[in-house]
Amino acid sequence: MTKQFANTGLMLNEPLLWEKGGKGKSAFSMPNQDVEQAFIDKDITGEGPNFPELSEIDIARHYTRLSTWNFGVDTGMYPLGSCTMKYNPKINEKLAALSGWSANPLIAEELNQGALEIMYRLADFLKEITGMDAVSLQPAAGAHGELAGMLICHAYFKSKNSIRKKIIIPDTAHGTNPASAALCGFKPVAVKSGQNGTLSAETVAAVMDEDTAGIMITNPNTLGLFEENIKDIAEIVHSKGGLVYCDGANMNAIMGIAAPGEIGIDVIQLNLHKTFSTPHGGGGPGSGPICVNKKLEPFLPVPRIIKQDNKYIISEDFPQSIGRLHTFFGNFGVMLKAYCYIMSMGDKYLEKASKLAVLNANYIKTSLKEVLELPYDRLCMHECVFSDKKLEQYKVTTLDLAKRLMEYGYHPPTIYFPLIVHGAIMIEPTETESKEEIDNFIEAIKSIVCEAKENPQLLLDAPKICKTRRLDETKAARKPILTEGYRL
Ligand SMILES: *Cc1c(COP(=O)(O)O)cnc(C)c1O
Repeated sequence: MTKQFANTGLMLNEPLLWEKGGKGKSAFSMPNQDVEQAFIDKDITGEGPNFPELSEIDIARHYTRLSTWNFGVDTGMYPLGSCTMKYNPKINEKLAALSGWSANPLIAEELNQGALEIMYRLADFLKEITGMDAVSLQPAAGAHGELAGMLICHAYFKSKNSIRKKIIIPDTAHGTNPASAALCGFKPVAVKSGQNGTLSAETVAAVMDEDTAGIMITNPNTLGLFEENIKDIAEIVHSKGGLVYCDGANMNAIMGIAAPGEIGIDVIQLNLHKTFSTPHGGGGPGSGPICVNKKLEPFLPVPRIIKQDNKYIISEDFPQSIGRLHTFFGNFGVMLKAYCYIMSMGDKYLEKASKLAVLNANYIKTSLKEVLELPYDRLCMHECVFSDKKLEQYKVTTLDLAKRLMEYGYHPPTIYFPLIVHGAIMIEPTETESKEEIDNFIEAIKSIVCEAKENPQLLLDAPKICKTRRLDETKAARKPILTEGYRL
C-alpha cells in the first residue's frame, strides 16, 4: 500500500544553475530606452556579480523543481507534535498581501491608523482568548515571547527591590523554557511529573520558596496532557510571592475552552505561527505575543499602541518597561494573517477548532495503542505520545519508523521528544485533517508495524524514494551545505 510521494523526481547529477547558464541567454526584456545612456565609472560599479545567464524556461523549471524537493502542509499530512502544522487558509495570505499594508513603519501616526488599529484589535482578541489584561505583539517567535516573559518577571522582582534566583520547570516543559529562563539569569529547578504525566501541587510545594521567582509550565504539556492541578499550583506559587509563567504555544488545544487568565497564570506567550494559522518552519517569520495580567502590565515592551480619543497612538511612556525587543512593531505580516484567521473563524469556530484538534489526537491515540506502546493512557489534548517499547522486539527504532513513514507520503511525527518517554513518537494531527486522511495515516502506521515484524529491512533502509537518504543529522545542522543547488 506504499503511496508514492508526489515529489520523488530523482535526477542524478542535476547540474547547478551556474553550470546551466550560457552567455547571451536571457530571461528578461526591457522597454526601449527613452533617455540618454549614463555611464558610471567602473571604479564605482566594480565588475558586477557573476550571475548565471539563463532563459526564462530554465529558471521556471529550476525553481519549480526545487519546490518539489520539500514537504509542506500543502503537500500532505504533517503530524509534527508540538508544532501545530495545520493548514493555513489561503485567504489569510491574500489579505495580508494587499498593497496598502506595505506602508513604511516610520510613517506618521496619523497616516498609519489602519495598521495600528489592526494591531490594537489583534491584541484585544488575544486578551479575550487568553483572559489576560494586556498584550505586546513584539516578540518574533515562541521562544522570543518566553524571553520577554522572563525579562518581565525579572523586572517585576527588581521593582520590588528583590532578587530571586531560581525558577521551577517541570520535566514536561518545552526545551526552550529552561533556556529562556537561564538567559535571564534564573537557575532552572527541574521537577518531576507524576505517574499520570502531570505535575502535582505537592511537588511544587516542596520546592517553592522565597528565593524562587515562580514556575514556568507548558500547558498543555509536551505529553499532550492538560496540567489539571494548575490552579492549586498557581496558588502555592503566589502564596510565596512568585509568578506563574505559562508556555502557551499549545493554545490550539484550549482556545475558547480554558482561559489561562482565569486559572492563575500571570504571563503567557502565544505562537501566532502555530495556533493562529500562519505558515511556519524553516526559520521563517513568526510571532510570539506576550500576554500578562494587571500586575505585570507596566513591564511590557515598548512601544505600545494605545487608543486615545478614537485615535491610535504609539507610546514609549512606560518607565518600568523592559524596553524594545524588535524593530518597529514586530512581524506585522504574521499579525495580519492571525487577525484574518481569527476574524474568519469567530469565537464559535475557534472553539470548534480546539475541540476537533483534541478529538483527532484522541482518535489516533485510541486507534494506535494496540500496535504502539502508550505510556500515559488517558485523555490527551491536541497530541499523543507513544514510546518505542513495542518496536524493540523487532530490533527497529523510532527513527526507522519515522523514516519509513516518509515513504508512505507523510511527514514524520516529532521523535525522541519529550525526553521523559523512551523513543518518543509524538503525533499532532491538528484539526484541519479529515477523518479519511487520519484513517489513512493510522493504516500507514499499522502497516509499518507489520513490516517491522515481517520485513524490518524495509524500515532500516528507508527512505529510499526521497530526495536524500538518511543524513548525518548532527552534521546537517551544525555544518549545513548551503549552496544554491546540491547534487545527489
Ligand atoms: C514551538 C514551541 C515553542 C517555541 O516556539 P518558536 O516559535 O519555535 O520559538 C515553545 N514552546 C512550545 C510548547 C512549543 O510547542
